[in-house]
Amino acid sequence: MRFSVLTLFPDMVYASAGYSIFKRGLDQGFVQLDCIDIRDFSANKHRQVDDYSYGGGFGMVMKAQPIYDAYQHALERLGCAASPRVVFLTPAGRPLTQELVAEFAREDALILLCGHYEGVDERVVEEIVTDEVSIGDYVLTGGELAALVLMDAVARLVPGVLGKEGSFAEESFTAGLLEYPQYTRPAEVLGRAVPDVLLSGDHKAVEKWRHEQSLRRTKTRRPDLL
Ligand code: SAM
Repeated sequence: MRFSVLTLFPDMVYASAGYSIFKRGLDQGFVQLDCIDIRDFSANKHRQVDDYSYGGGFGMVMKAQPIYDAYQHALERLGCAASPRVVFLTPAGRPLTQELVAEFAREDALILLCGHYEGVDERVVEEIVTDEVSIGDYVLTGGELAALVLMDAVARLVPGVLGKEGSFAEESFTAGLLEYPQYTRPAEVLGRAVPDVLLSGDHKAVEKWRHEQSLRRTKTRRPDLL
């Protein structure tokens, strides 16, 4: 999976991507990350990339031209015959779900566009963006954290990234349910014991207990999933 991120803050993206499983995916070549600094494509000697909003109102809007030129540069660097999906991270987008993450994970490459200020000139969104995605019903200052969330969730589904740790089938949302509670050693801690069934060695009973716990959790915490 190749991620190309159009951003005003490449260092923020590279720094946050340099940890844990995502870093291992990068190191082992299962994942590639290329950040394109939109400011490098400003036509302005002050490297300005924003301007006032037509119609008035608070805040600035990211200009279309530097984003479009950064996108063309990303295409060149990716060397794709056809443009990959271009995801604009925006609170006005379709909610990011595990289903959408799995769909993105089947792509060879993704271009992610991170907005700032009041947002992005709609004309460049219409021209290059294939998917508008929100990571939740709240407003961040910029799209970089949202892009990192999306990349993290997608990368762990890329074959090879999780290695043997991969147990997608039972993870929250994959089967339409929240995951059951997890326990590790010791068998008793803080005066609390591990449920007996998990120590029983009876795999069928463990499976049944876990499924019941998943159902119970989903019913109480996220009935909308059922
Ligand atoms: N004025 C915009 C609105 O009300 O929808 C919010 C702009 S926000 C301050 C700046 C940028 O942060 C957005 O262009 C987007 O890229 C990113 N962003 C903010 N919240 C987000 C969310 N929930 N999901 C994805 N991206 C988000």
